[in-house]
Amino acid sequence: MAQPARLAPATEPWKDPAARPYVRIEGVTKTFGKVHACDDISLDVYRGEFFALLGGSGSGKSTLLRILAGFEAPDSGRVLIDGVDVTALPPYRRPVNMMFQSYALFPHMSVAQNIGFGLKQDGMPAGAIRDRVQQMLELVQMPQLGNRKPDQLSGGQRQRVALARALAKQPKLLLLDEPLGALDKRLRERTQFELVNIQERVGTTFVMVTHDQEEAMTMSSRIAVMDAGRIVQVSTPAALYEYPSTRFVAEFIGGINLFEGRVLGHDAAAGIVRIACDALEGGVLQARHPDPLPEGTAVSVAVRPEKIDVHEAAPPRADNVAAGKVRDIAYLGDVSIYHVETASGAEVRVQETHVERSSEPHYDWGDTLWLTWPATAAVVLTA
Ligand code: ADP
Ligand code: MG
Repeated sequence: MAQPARLAPATEPWKDPAARPYVRIEGVTKTFGKVHACDDISLDVYRGEFFALLGGSGSGKSTLLRILAGFEAPDSGRVLIDGVDVTALPPYRRPVNMMFQSYALFPHMSVAQNIGFGLKQDGMPAGAIRDRVQQMLELVQMPQLGNRKPDQLSGGQRQRVALARALAKQPKLLLLDEPLGALDKRLRERTQFELVNIQERVGTTFVMVTHDQEEAMTMSSRIAVMDAGRIVQVSTPAALYEYPSTRFVAEFIGGINLFEGRVLGHDAAAGIVRIACDALEGGVLQARHPDPLPEGTAVSVAVRPEKIDVHEAAPPRADNVAAGKVRDIAYLGDVSIYHVETASGAEVRVQETHVERSSEPHYDWGDTLWLTWPATAAVVLTA
């Protein structure tokens, strides 16, 4: 997984029951004909967060963002910003600005005129506009480029001008809909860091829509995963990766092994659940699970490839052992991913980190490997 671009926040207001959310979405539903674009969504976002709405195409992310901005009215539910019910307020009466996927810079205006456009409309004096525009140009590291026209800029520079324009009116809340969607992959990765950096400097609360899980993971303080108009999980990136709450989230975040099985029993003292699963040696999978689960419950067990240890011979003892043959190897530079097929026909992906960047994968096609992982590395999913 890519490294998070942001430092861990000093405080985690969502863990403090007394903390007041800056944005509160209460039971918001929006339908278009038969489509539930947003289906009874409730969500709190705290001041200074870089919050991501993550989901596949059509999951309702943009609709929720447009409801926050005031471009769309919910059928039911409320939106509060800083404690004020803004549900009935038009966009321009909200302390909110939105940056669209297509930046829609005015082609005939200079960069400076683009950035100052909203300020001029608001009747800000020319001198104050000039100062603010210069401040914004410096913020996005383009202090010399105010006189350029948009067509004299690179894609990344246009994206930064759009950001500067969106921040010029100093909104309390900035909404970004796939802000990096128009950039190619390399530029997008660099711009992710810049955007996080700028957000931390201005301190504005950001809510960003993206369908790119890696982008959400690297940029955000927290992520809400959306599916079919509903929020399925809200977590920090690390918690989402380590503790997906449903199969959907586990698969969406990607690169995970899912084992299917039925609960055999629960050791309450150890907090370990035993699951019948024929992909494992002995036919039993052990996973840490604090709450008892009734015998016979169908579960999926998620195990990250990097949590699995690889052995060339049968290991002495482990909570979980699977054995199989290497069917595929993906060499990714600093790591290799092995696809191991067990006798039961299950495929298990394991990750091996190379100590030296140049070193070759250790194992070969057809090799028999034993895989082990502790019960604590397995997450039991019942939904
Ligand atoms: P996302 O941004 O996650 O891709 P959207 O919020 O754009 O999803 O759309 C969610 C669902 O609502 C989709 O099925 C989409 O077709 C539908 N939808 C969104 N806006 C409209 C609209 N103005 N009219 C009709 N259907 C819409
Ligand atoms: Mg969208």
